[in-house]
Amino acid sequence: MVVKTNTLRAINARRSILDLILSDHPKDCLTCEKNGDCELQRLASEMDLHHVLYEGKMSEYKLDLSCDAIVRDLDKCIMCRRCETACTDVQSVGVLSGVGRGFEAVVGPADLMPLEDSICVFCGQCVIACPVGALTEQNCRYKVWRALNKKDKHIVVQTAPAVRVAIGESFGMKPGTIATGQLVAGLKMLGFDKVFDTDFAADLTIMEETTELIDRITRNENLPILTSCCPGWVKFMEHQFPELLYMPSTAKSPQQMFGAIAKSYYAEKMDLKPEDIIVVSVMPCLSKKYEASREKFAPDGIRDVDNVISTRELASMFKEAGIQLDKLEPQEYDNPLGESTGAGVIFGASGGVLEAALRTAAEWLSKEELKDVNFTAVRGPEGIKEATVPVAGIDVKVAVCSGLSNARWVLERIQRGEAHYHAIEIMACPGGCLNGGGQPYIHGDSSILEKRAAAIYKADEALAIRKSHENPHIKKLYAEFLEKPGSRIAHKLLHTNYTARGHLCDK
Ligand code: SF4
Ligand code: SF4
Ligand code: SF4
Repeated sequence: MVVKTNTLRAINARRSILDLILSDHPKDCLTCEKNGDCELQRLASEMDLHHVLYEGKMSEYKLDLSCDAIVRDLDKCIMCRRCETACTDVQSVGVLSGVGRGFEAVVGPADLMPLEDSICVFCGQCVIACPVGALTEQNCRYKVWRALNKKDKHIVVQTAPAVRVAIGESFGMKPGTIATGQLVAGLKMLGFDKVFDTDFAADLTIMEETTELIDRITRNENLPILTSCCPGWVKFMEHQFPELLYMPSTAKSPQQMFGAIAKSYYAEKMDLKPEDIIVVSVMPCLSKKYEASREKFAPDGIRDVDNVISTRELASMFKEAGIQLDKLEPQEYDNPLGESTGAGVIFGASGGVLEAALRTAAEWLSKEELKDVNFTAVRGPEGIKEATVPVAGIDVKVAVCSGLSNARWVLERIQRGEAHYHAIEIMACPGGCLNGGGQPYIHGDSSILEKRAAAIYKADEALAIRKSHENPHIKKLYAEFLEKPGSRIAHKLLHTNYTARGHLCDK
């Protein structure tokens, strides 16, 4: 059989389908969050469509603004069901599916309940799958603009590891370009008082998490330890595996550790009141917006982190301010919360948190210098990676999972007694934060993710210090303020606990 896809008949059939889709699609493209990034817009342009043939009844749904991470605008949904595949097949969360019949059919949570009331983990994988503006992030740019105009406040910003290897894509830089210095320069031009690095807090996370790992291995208790820096994964665990909540490390994520230190140690150093500091995060992630809003992370009514914007939102802010990132001279992060090691940088890739922990655990356990810091067995794009790493005479069994259906598979094997590990890194997004829900859209081109990952490891290799415990500013932080990893004050500021929620959705 010969199938011809470019005959006039085939082209007219495609055009008719597009006409039908557009007959029930809002025509507010110029003001849509997806303007310029919409596959339907691109298709209409490619098919040379200049007017809509069919006019008729249009869908009218209320915007779902219920949660801090995602906005759902069902009027724009074209029923492609890519979000359902992402949520159900890739993530095994199963929040999104077809609801209703005929003209009333939409894709959403059961009974079209607000996303906030569902067991959604806000990973944003549905957002990056959606070809149109039906699923987008909660836009926090205006809050940040307002904060930047408050002259009586001290505004600091932190940038997550995966942001620096992706934001350049929004300014025509090749995928895989490391734009750290330009990112810092751009943020200083926007008017932040200090530009800091979440990688510093990633090093801090390793200090606390590795202390916990060694303690659990030594006592042979509560194993395996599960990493806890991904809020999407943590929420998934709270809903789906409440009986295993003794497993995740109690260490807060780097984002929250940063906020806690900024409003205590840094505030003291700068002679500022915590309430006079506004902490803004730039994250590759939508779930971090939800994490920052959790009640647990507002001790004494003061939030660790005040506003979270995604990589995409920061790119939009730069464009609004007329800042061409690719044209900027690189600048350095500020201190004392801006210096990081290679171990902090690799947090952005799947396997990076575990590798960073192994670098420190190997030296702390053996009390000898680690000759080769590269634990390549835990790198790569595979959804599940397993390795046995000899550390100071112990065969440490580790696993790395990215994507929640992979995490579910591994946890169910542990529950059945079929798998035994000492430590597992879990990231909600397939490939880790490089592929977070807030990163520039890749429209299915997975080679871009490979280039972002290569850039992360290149940035790690370029740094003189590649082990978290050797970061001089981290050493100073413990010497001046935190005493030692796992101390009482470290626990108060840097650790958290989890809530078994089953199908309850409270924060
Ligand atoms: S954010 Fe993640 S969990 Fe929530 S609906 Fe989208 S894919 Fe599902
Ligand atoms: S991916 Fe977007 S357009 Fe497609 S079904 Fe989901 S919400 Fe609708
Ligand atoms: S893997 Fe990273 S980007 Fe994705 S939800 Fe977790 S922290 Fe956010």
